Amino acid sequence: MSTQVSVEPILAFKDNYIWCLVNSATKHCILVDPGEARPALAFLKNTHYTLDAILITHHHWDHTNGVKALLRTYSVPVYGPAKETVLGVTQPVDEGDTFHIEGWPLNFKVLATPGHTLGHIAYYAEGMLFCGDTLFSAGCGRLFEGTADQMLASLNKLAHLPGDTQLYCGHEYTLANLHFAQMIEPENSQIKERLEKVREFRQSNLPSLPNTLENERKINPFLRCEQIRIADRIEKHHGRRLTSPVEIFAYLRQWKNNYK
Ligand SMILES: [Zn+2]
Repeated sequence: MSTQVSVEPILAFKDNYIWCLVNSATKHCILVDPGEARPALAFLKNTHYTLDAILITHHHWDHTNGVKALLRTYSVPVYGPAKETVLGVTQPVDEGDTFHIEGWPLNFKVLATPGHTLGHIAYYAEGMLFCGDTLFSAGCGRLFEGTADQMLASLNKLAHLPGDTQLYCGHEYTLANLHFAQMIEPENSQIKERLEKVREFRQSNLPSLPNTLENERKINPFLRCEQIRIADRIEKHHGRRLTSPVEIFAYLRQWKNNYK
């Protein structure tokens, strides 16, 4: 990661993160998924950072509702998914697009990650991944619009990024996700270790994010559907033989939907 760029969390609603990229040389910043204007505006006022751009991963209100109010104060480009309608987007982008924001030592690469929504995109830059509601730490987004096939392909695409990639997800869901992951893989010591760490973070009110992709590959059941033990457990739970990775993924997602 560029030492000149850091990322700060702004908490919105109950568990949303508005990620703020900060250029330490210029004190300029970029906001990702400002779902709520009030905390974003307060943060910008307190830090005196100059807003350069807004990035949007998908159309859900809890990722986009703050855009309108921010644009009343700041005249900045808004990057967003070309396949979705998001109020305020000036730079529609999709799979394979790259862009550069003036004054920043970063090149953003756009990855299409349909599944949670049909036009969902993720932004990758210098070892940082802003993946919205596609990939969470120890979990993945719900299938609101896409198919299991699409979501699995999106997760596989993200899983192939370099292992040291830092994941900046749209929500603080890690603790609940880890409880599910531990139920699926009770013998996995990496899950236990991460659970202990995340408990400490959350007790101190600190984000559990970012996490590295390398660690996610070890703890996230949705990136580990091909593991025999996991597949066996899902087959037993659902009482049927599952024959393809996408079936295994679909039943795991369904299990998580009903897990309390
Ligand atoms: Zn969403």
